[in-house]
Amino acid sequence: MGTWMATIRFPDGTERYARYSTVVAAVVSNLYTTFHVEHHRAEPTGEPLPTFPARPRAPIDELIPVVISHAPDDNHWYAVYCPRRCMVLGPTSPHRCWRIQATSDLAHGTVHRLRHLSRLRGRGLCGAPVLDAPLPYRRYESWWGEEEPEPQPARTDIFAEWTSPDMCRECLLLVLDQAE
Ligand SMILES: [Zn+2]
Repeated sequence: MGTWMATIRFPDGTERYARYSTVVAAVVSNLYTTFHVEHHRAEPTGEPLPTFPARPRAPIDELIPVVISHAPDDNHWYAVYCPRRCMVLGPTSPHRCWRIQATSDLAHGTVHRLRHLSRLRGRGLCGAPVLDAPLPYRRYESWWGEEEPEPQPARTDIFAEWTSPDMCRECLLLVLDQAE
């Protein structure tokens, strides 16, 4: 129990560091540019970088896909960073990715062949009309969080699809705003 260091990796090779809480299983701090190692354990160090949460979000195509991992096992997931707010918009937790997969369908749009997340028959989260037959993506979970016994689609980190030209980025941002 406690905190581990998380590393946020940008496409240009830049790394930022933050604290990952094992209590809430999520990144819980601002980003830092440096870290130090004490008693064999890495810790972000120095002044945290400022964030500007009240600023309007950068246009969708200026958002930056990042990969977040945390010690000790380098478990990693994909997320999106806003260069105007100077913060990770989310997901800040790998569990969030699995919740999205358990609560959303993925379906092709009827007009353009974009893939949309959907929680309503016939509509993507962004409002685009989607085909009734969803793509293999959603994994049903039982009340206890256990996997259902029948074969299910593989666990998919949908934010890894941010850079796929056929993935609707608007749907990805909208799912972050939905309460789980
Ligand atoms: Zn969409």
